[in-house]
Amino acid sequence: MDATDSRRRFLRQAGLGAAVAALAAPGAAAAMLAQPLTAAMQNSDKKKLGWAIVGLGKFATEEIMPNFKDCQHSRLVALVSGSPDKAQKLAQQYGLQEKNIYSYQNFDSIKDNPEVDVVYIILPNSLHAEYTIRAAQAGKHVLCEKPMATSVHDCQKMIDACQKAGKQLMIAYRCQYEPFNLNAIERIRKGELGKLRFITSDHGRRVKPTEDKADTWRVQKKLAGGGSLMDIGIYSLNAARYFAGEEPVEVTAQIASDPNDPRFKEVEDNVAFTLRFPSGVLAACTSSYSYETVKRGRVFGDKGWLDLDPLSDYDKHTMKIGKPDGKEEPQLKEGNQFAAEIDHLSECILQNKTPRTPGEEGLRDVRYIMAIYESARKGKAIKV
Ligand code: NAD
Repeated sequence: MDATDSRRRFLRQAGLGAAVAALAAPGAAAAMLAQPLTAAMQNSDKKKLGWAIVGLGKFATEEIMPNFKDCQHSRLVALVSGSPDKAQKLAQQYGLQEKNIYSYQNFDSIKDNPEVDVVYIILPNSLHAEYTIRAAQAGKHVLCEKPMATSVHDCQKMIDACQKAGKQLMIAYRCQYEPFNLNAIERIRKGELGKLRFITSDHGRRVKPTEDKADTWRVQKKLAGGGSLMDIGIYSLNAARYFAGEEPVEVTAQIASDPNDPRFKEVEDNVAFTLRFPSGVLAACTSSYSYETVKRGRVFGDKGWLDLDPLSDYDKHTMKIGKPDGKEEPQLKEGNQFAAEIDHLSECILQNKTPRTPGEEGLRDVRYIMAIYESARKGKAIKV
């Protein structure tokens, strides 16, 4: 919500229709904006931004929607779904107005809904681009799930559409809003581990498309874009980059999938990749769709190592640090990473700041993912 939007909304809420009309008139807006904010306007500026969720699947309904309760600057106001019954039920549960339920077909009419400031895209990966672009064209800011898109080209189109509309685009890298990860980054940057040497990160889980509906599109290339790398290897990749604090210059990779496993007819199972960073730090990362859940990362410096296991779970994170004089396990407070992430974008919109994980951050990962696939295909290192 920019300053003009904010004032317009306040005036509308205050029933000052004539003033809204004045704001819409060319020239009048500038004159109005030049006036000092009244106390009431300032209060209205502090109000929570309205969010719409697109896609009411497992992650949206089980993790995101319940966590709006802890948001300071964001409130859930609208739903976009292909299933009217599910949307109705959830709208009732969350006290949302029926007029704020949209289908994928009438989604574009959300542009006429001043209650919605931000649209959060939680659809299968290959649909992220279309709905981000449509949201931007409807004049809404966007939070989009990872991976940002299934091609570099789509990522660029999303960035361009949001830029053209003058709206913010953030990618939902929740670990970058999670206290254990933030604390680890702080320790690394302060030099607690000494000079960084090596990073490892592994993300694996057993994908079960016949038992879990949320896994059916994950094994379809057209919807997922790829397999374990796109879905969870991206956590290993992103963590290696934020721990290193620099961008890789070269990647190598190998991929192995059981050709007799029907889950891996279209997408890959096991990926092992390395990243070489300019300072000389190496990262060795893996992702898999065929073993029990692993979500860990370790950073090795010449004065110690730091371990997060899990690194990217929804809760119950642990940190261990190893130094020459022994091991320690800092007791950090678990935080609500979902609320922190959502509020971060609302605050950035209200304060006109660039989010910590903008579209460009998502594009970088998709570019490296494509280089990882290329390296595995060609059997050689790829400069990035
Ligand atoms: P899901 O299958 O449970 O949800 C996807 C939703 O999209 C469903 O409601 C489905 O009906 C809807 N949909 C609309 N058009 C569709 C189509 N053509 N085909 C299939 N579904 C369609 O999946 P999910 O696990 O909730 O994942 C959704 C997105 O969220 C993905 O991009 C995924 O990477 C991301 N995600 C992120 C995290 C995280 O921790 N950040 C965790 C899980 C999922």
